[in-house]
Amino acid sequence: MPFRGIVLFMPDVAQITVAPARTAELTALIRATGTETRTTVSPLTGADVATVPVSTDQDVLDAFAAARVAQLDWARTPVRRRKKALLRLHDLVLKHQAELLDLIQLESGKARSHAFDEVLHSALTGRYYGRRLSRILGPHRRSGVYPVITSVRQHHQPKGVVGLITPWNYPLSMALVDGLAAVAAGNAVVHKPDSQSPLTALAIIELMHRAGFPKDLWQVVSGAGSVIGSVIIDHADYICFTGSTATGKRIAAQCSQRLIGCSLELGGKNPMIVLPGADVEKAVEGTVTAAFSSAGQLCVSIERVYVHDSIYDRYRDGLAGRLAQMAYGANADWEVEMGTLVSPSQLATTQKHVADALDHGATLVSGGHARPDIAPWFHEPTVLEDVPESALCFAEETFGPVVSLYRYRSIGEAVQAANDTPYGLNASVWGPSRRARQVATRIKAGTVNVNEGFAATFGSIGAPMGGMKESGTGRRQGAEGLLRFTETQSIGVQRVIPVGGPSFLSKRTFGALLTVGLIGLRRFTRRA
Ligand code: NAD
Repeated sequence: MPFRGIVLFMPDVAQITVAPARTAELTALIRATGTETRTTVSPLTGADVATVPVSTDQDVLDAFAAARVAQLDWARTPVRRRKKALLRLHDLVLKHQAELLDLIQLESGKARSHAFDEVLHSALTGRYYGRRLSRILGPHRRSGVYPVITSVRQHHQPKGVVGLITPWNYPLSMALVDGLAAVAAGNAVVHKPDSQSPLTALAIIELMHRAGFPKDLWQVVSGAGSVIGSVIIDHADYICFTGSTATGKRIAAQCSQRLIGCSLELGGKNPMIVLPGADVEKAVEGTVTAAFSSAGQLCVSIERVYVHDSIYDRYRDGLAGRLAQMAYGANADWEVEMGTLVSPSQLATTQKHVADALDHGATLVSGGHARPDIAPWFHEPTVLEDVPESALCFAEETFGPVVSLYRYRSIGEAVQAANDTPYGLNASVWGPSRRARQVATRIKAGTVNVNEGFAATFGSIGAPMGGMKESGTGRRQGAEGLLRFTETQSIGVQRVIPVGGPSFLSKRTFGALLTVGLIGLRRFTRRA
């Protein structure tokens, strides 16, 4: 049984472990030849999980060399075979979810149901690209300079080898949502997962081999981003990065030196607006999921809530009451509603933001304390109000289970406050659907969810997702999420006469004929 709010029950802990033999099998998939290792620690218990070899710079170069060879073959593989592998991966991720869930929980500390969100998201990604690949990749016909005489087709060539750098918070889905789109487009991948979550990444490549992806197509290297990250950027044809805005800016600067493209999925300080006329109970329930999934360590997590004056007190008291009943835990129980923070540094930031807000005059509505009795770095879901602009958590991303409530009187005021941030990743609007959709279009964020926190867009793989402003560049998911890993190539074929006109006509006559023709086309056809 999980812990519930303030009243604690001794948990019937469903222990999560990984056998040393299995750990050895997985870590053997890392391209690493040196003697340096790193031990990972589970946030569930604080105990060691695995001794992981660290890749040298030369290992990274070898990973690129092997990936390049595999990519040449893969790019020639018929699209129908790639689709088959993607759909098989969909099935395998679902079939082997028990181990994936264990590994995700062991490495990230999140609740089992939140780990399942990752399994679902990954399977849906495989299915989406497996089904749509031909349609997205084309080739697509484009209108030529002259009808019939010129034909143009738009092709999409793979970039080559994509450097994929992913964080620890969604170790399965952040790797697959981008990595699968990259390989579907005909690329190879050199993947550097965060040092906190290598086993989940390694379990992915094992499943990919079984699904039919070639052996060297997806390489995993391990090590500190600040060390091997720049070797990856120096050798990749494109960089796909998910992580903090600070690191994203460094990566963009390095990519610009080589004139390679990058997509950057970065941080956020995501707002929610609760409109007058919103169903308060539903908005409260939505806030619990939107702000505390994965203990708030989710890029699209809500950290600011603007509630209309007419319902503010009812909403605040409802949220506090609901959180008092929330189920906490650090185990495999599916009923746990919030797991733990991942590390001492995540706990330290969370505690710092809460203490700083209270020092600056904020009021604690709910939570506010670390709970080492549940897991070493567990922190209660925390709600603050009266947070002044001078407090750290007013504008900075906490990336923890802390949400601040603000009262507003006019919708213009709420929209302005929601947009008053350097970030623009995700937002949420609760209220009567039509009104809420209108407000949504006024918010400067890559995704806005109406009567939902983040899942309506996050879970819709056909919908592009990504950040405006300092939340990033580029979009994952949908056709855009795949086409960023390609170079667009137009192939034009000219027939019968050259574009400059036939040789038996003077340039002047040809020019005059063309002018008359264009005017006629514009007048008498709807499409020209
Ligand atoms: P981080 O930037 O510290 O690390 C992310 C990854 O980058 C890790 O694999 C790390 O090893 C690597 N890295 C670090 N320095 C590097 C460098 N100089 N060169 C190359 N790689 C380097 O981020 P974090 O703190 O671990 O993750 C949390 C942040 O990620 C939060 O800000 C969160 O909002 C953001 N995030 C964004 C999304 C999104 O989709 N927009 C998703 C998840 C997390």
